[in-house]
Amino acid sequence: MCAECGGKLTACWSRGKRKKYPYYLCKTQGCMSCRKSVRRGIVHNQIEELLKELVPRPEGLRAFKSFVDFALKRRLQNHDQNKRALDNEIQELHVRRRRLLDKIVDEDDEDITNALKERLKQVEADRILKEQIRLKSEQNGKRSSERFEHCYMISSSPCNIWKNVSLSVRGAILRACFKSPPQYLIKRGFRTPELL
Ligand SMILES: [Zn+2]
Repeated sequence: MCAECGGKLTACWSRGKRKKYPYYLCKTQGCMSCRKSVRRGIVHNQIEELLKELVPRPEGLRAFKSFVDFALKRRLQNHDQNKRALDNEIQELHVRRRRLLDKIVDEDDEDITNALKERLKQVEADRILKEQIRLKSEQNGKRSSERFEHCYMISSSPCNIWKNVSLSVRGAILRACFKSPPQYLIKRGFRTPELL
């Protein structure tokens, strides 16, 4: 964000002789910094410096980690319980399906056979639905433990994470660390940002 006008700095590329260079530019008409630019590398190095200062104290980090562990454990326990219940229901539906098939094979009366086939269809539909639910909840479980992991990693060292992720994720890290987008004064650098 431009410290002069509060507008967003625009990311651009300038054409050098051999290479293109990425840089940031304020495009707000009438702003003191309008059309002034700064190399992207310079801005990003300074962001790294800002993030380096954001290392939490060890005792705070320990408390946070134990909270994350606790929440994750609770979630996994719930998840296991749900999974076991679903497994049982699916197993039960398999048994009912087999029984119905046996009955259909043994039955001579056409009306009864049709009624049994109808019931079989319902049992099958029920089983497929339950299996889909089980699959979805497995995927959700995996995603949520990854989210917890990220949450912990970011809080322990925002700077290291920032260095190793793509530009789109970098924005999310800055939003997680600072109250508002850090303000950049072109040719001078960042103003001290407000933390969350
Ligand atoms: Zn500006």
